[in-house]
Amino acid sequence: MVINSKTSLQEVLEIIKKEGKTVGLVPTMGALHDGHLSLINFAYSYCDTVVVSIFVNPTQFNNASDLEKYPRNVNNDAGFLKQHNSKTIIFTPDVSDIYNDKVEAESFDFGSYVDFMEGEFRVGHFDGVGSVLKRLFDIVKPDKAFFGEKDFQQLMVVKKLVKITDQDVEIIGCPTSRNEFGLAQSSRNFRLTDSELKVAELIYKALSKAKKMFDNNSIKEIENEIVNMFKDEPAFELEYFSIVKENDLIPTKIKEPKQNYRAFIAAFLGEVRLIDNMALNY
Ligand code: AMP
Repeated sequence: MVINSKTSLQEVLEIIKKEGKTVGLVPTMGALHDGHLSLINFAYSYCDTVVVSIFVNPTQFNNASDLEKYPRNVNNDAGFLKQHNSKTIIFTPDVSDIYNDKVEAESFDFGSYVDFMEGEFRVGHFDGVGSVLKRLFDIVKPDKAFFGEKDFQQLMVVKKLVKITDQDVEIIGCPTSRNEFGLAQSSRNFRLTDSELKVAELIYKALSKAKKMFDNNSIKEIENEIVNMFKDEPAFELEYFSIVKENDLIPTKIKEPKQNYRAFIAAFLGEVRLIDNMALNY
């Protein structure tokens, strides 16, 4: 079922909620793939009804060409879900449903979670993410909302968002879904040629190498190794490789005991920007 307007969605959900059913929300920007599907399946293991929102959120893009080129095809997405999970509700709001007439991001205090990596290289991105999610949570009022660890920094930001805004929704993180060669599924992969898709596997190889090196090497040694792996692949331009403590997402130069560490990569393959991350010591 595809629902285009906020009021129609709320009417449908009112009936569902009156029946005592729980509602899960999976926010997406469409161009659905197996990664999204893994979130939807995860959501069904917790909730009776699942709403997948499809909304390419203008306020989270800091690059006009990236926004313009973002793949959009709601008909394909509806067909994909009909094939895999036909009872899912697809919600495709208009920009005015979300922002009324003021298409602007609010600013939030996400603390150190947004100082580095995506927050540093896409300035304002997380305010845009927070703005759209706050509004989607207000419209759908889900019991739970599901986010991929593929965007781990986003997952941490969203957990903080619901605390700041005091919204009554539980945020659940879901494992990253990868193809057989480790490449994380992403809507941006649709913009890559077959040969670029092969090259893109370097991201997973680099993260796996970092994980393998983590126990017996310094952070500096690991960073040097990963930077050199990318230098050897001229098609790729590494934007950042960072090893951070998971509880504050601040890049670290030392390893402290009893801390979880995670490595993050952003890299350009031509014009397409890909990101991924991996836990290093658990
Ligand atoms: P997007 O449509 O790219 O904004 O992603 C919507 C949601 O799907 C976000 O919570 C992402 O983290 C999640 N997601 C995207 N790709 C994957 C993947 N490969 N594995 C798990 N979750 C994913």
